[in-house]
Amino acid sequence: MKIQPAGHILSITPYPPGKPVEEVEREYGIKDSVKLASNENPLGPSPKAVAAIIKAVAGLHHYPDSGGYYLTAKLAAKLGVRADQIVLGNGSDDVIGMLTRVYLKPGDTAIMTDPSFLMYDIFVRTVGAEPVKIPLNELAIDLPAMAAAVTEKTRMVFITNPNNPTGGHITPAQFEAFIASLPPHIVVVLDEAYIEFANSPDCLDGLKLISDDWPVAVMRTFSKVYGLAGIRIGYGIMPAEMAGMLHRVRQPFNTNSLAQAAATAALDDEEFLRETKRLIQTELQFLQNSLTRMGVCWFPTQANFFLIDVKQSARSVFEALLQQGVIVRSMVSYGYPEYIRVTVGTRAENIRFLKALERVLDLRETIHA
Ligand SMILES: *Cc1c(COP(=O)(O)O)cnc(C)c1O
Repeated sequence: MKIQPAGHILSITPYPPGKPVEEVEREYGIKDSVKLASNENPLGPSPKAVAAIIKAVAGLHHYPDSGGYYLTAKLAAKLGVRADQIVLGNGSDDVIGMLTRVYLKPGDTAIMTDPSFLMYDIFVRTVGAEPVKIPLNELAIDLPAMAAAVTEKTRMVFITNPNNPTGGHITPAQFEAFIASLPPHIVVVLDEAYIEFANSPDCLDGLKLISDDWPVAVMRTFSKVYGLAGIRIGYGIMPAEMAGMLHRVRQPFNTNSLAQAAATAALDDEEFLRETKRLIQTELQFLQNSLTRMGVCWFPTQANFFLIDVKQSARSVFEALLQQGVIVRSMVSYGYPEYIRVTVGTRAENIRFLKALERVLDLRETIHA
């Protein structure tokens, strides 16, 4: 084709879409597979959200409320911030995209960890800026190394807390020291997609740092703890001036009416939220205790997923688990050739996983012997 894209677009690797479960089942000739690969809520969506969606369907001929008035007001009251500090997005991804469009131009750089959430890289490159990647240090975010990497071209820094794919966390003291060491023209994007699962008392809560004087934008989502990944809704909390800039580039109807209704109702579903957190804590304990008994090495987490060191090719273990109908995430492409990432599921799903892992690791032992 003669039509060439803008040069920087060619540097982007497309986001690798996970195969739908139905496709995996057809390919491997299995059924009743369990997916513990995308950090989704094992309980399904919030029932209150589902009821709200059904009710809102009758109004689908209307355009959605552009600013998401009710959802924004409810979030502001719940989080103790002002409505003018909140920007809704078609998933929190959408808000990250707006931040890069507003604050980055060609030639700028954005600092992120290596590995990090793939969308940061894609959004930064989309606007012609360049990602600068700082390796994790023993799976922990190396904030001093990230601060040391700042140059006059740096305009943005991405921090994920709790981190994906490690599940690790940073403390308020670490983060505040980091922010204090940055020049004032840098936007800090603090991605808290999993913050609701964190239970360590020393885990940073970015919301406590939101002020009109700090250049920190906190990303939150309804995709994980609220079980609404499929309908796409998330939000950012940031200084009002920054939020105003994002509204300039935001598509007017970026959050659809069903998503707004679902998220508004989910915020009231305290019972579902409690139930989800309780399940994740109980099942995480169950998984970790079982793995320890099996002699398998796992890493502590503040999220609803965790890493396992399988001490052999993660790709082969991933494939072998797939044959058993258990879908996890291989960490090969993240730079960890012997780690897999597992999302915490229901008790039945977790038992399926543990049994399959036992079989897969034993089987390989037999083959080697
Ligand atoms: C899942 C996840 C998100 C959520 O993205 P949405 O667009 O809100 O679904 C954001 N950041 C990280 C690191 C995630 O793992």
